[in-house]
Amino acid sequence: MAVTTPKSAPPESQLGSYRAAVVHKFHKPLTVEEVPARPLEPGQIRVQVEASGLCHTDIHAANGDWPVKPEPPFVPGHEGVGKVVEVGPGVADVALGDRVAMPWLGYACGTCDHCVSGWETLCLEQKNMGYSIDGGFGEYATAYGRYVVKVPDGIDPLDAAPLTCAGVTTYKAVKVAGTRSSDLVAVFGVGGLGHLAIQYAAIAGGRVVAVDLIDEKLELARKLGAEFTINATERDPVEAIQSLGGADQAIALAVSPKAFEQAYGTLRRGGKLVFVALPADNYVTLPIFETVLQGITIVGSIVGTRTDLREVFELHGAGKTHVIREVRPLDTVNDSIADVEAGRVAARIVFQP
Ligand SMILES: [Zn+2]
Ligand SMILES: [Zn+2]
Repeated sequence: MAVTTPKSAPPESQLGSYRAAVVHKFHKPLTVEEVPARPLEPGQIRVQVEASGLCHTDIHAANGDWPVKPEPPFVPGHEGVGKVVEVGPGVADVALGDRVAMPWLGYACGTCDHCVSGWETLCLEQKNMGYSIDGGFGEYATAYGRYVVKVPDGIDPLDAAPLTCAGVTTYKAVKVAGTRSSDLVAVFGVGGLGHLAIQYAAIAGGRVVAVDLIDEKLELARKLGAEFTINATERDPVEAIQSLGGADQAIALAVSPKAFEQAYGTLRRGGKLVFVALPADNYVTLPIFETVLQGITIVGSIVGTRTDLREVFELHGAGKTHVIREVRPLDTVNDSIADVEAGRVAARIVFQP
């Protein structure tokens, strides 16, 4: 790859501070305030954010819901997309003016077994945007040049943002599921992730059955290619999907352990359950006997690699996916979080700083 570091990167002093949404305390509202622009370290770039999606993970981060917690104060956001405006020492992968996406995998070591075998998302040295590195909920963000992904020309940054986590995460989940033509794929949860999972499963040749609790979301699922839909408040998804012959793969995207258990129950013999969502309540109860006798596979899938994200952008650029999103100003961050938690958002909220 050509070295494209400009000779005259703008001096640090050009940007003293910028507005960002900051978590100061878990379970408290975020404050939109001025934060200092720190000098770039070797390998880092500064990005002027054009769009940044709100993922459920950001809400879990702001609440400190998971066993590994971020350290306040921090700026959430791992679907940031924008233009490179400053390049630190030693950056060779991107240049000023490039439009880039800043995904969850903000940094990895590049040399461990995971990194060199195509599983950089499992690197123990990783840093995560919006968690251990300040993320995209601001006018600017700092990222590592090697771990951003260029957004191809012609892709709207407002579409690119949700693709940067919701897209790549579900694209990878379908890869991990191993969906092949004619497989029946059960997608549990039709939100920011689910609406894209349906499309990737269909692109892979699967027949999709979407499960949710809200009729409007199921209607959206049908528009995006789901052949069957089940409202789990009206019908038992296990019975309904077993009556279709059982799912070859089930993808658990709803933040509810009960949905994971139901997803398991929809599998046919030899089926595969992919864990993707991360409910605050961390445990499920699944039977050992049936898992063994029916040859069930259960696997976790965490985001995706830079290559996966490039493929996601390629599919979108080719017109094969539709991103359903609602654009809001960053100042609405707390109301937007409340709306996501209450299920009042069709798919994805994208902030414009
Ligand atoms: Zn996410
Ligand atoms: Zn590594």
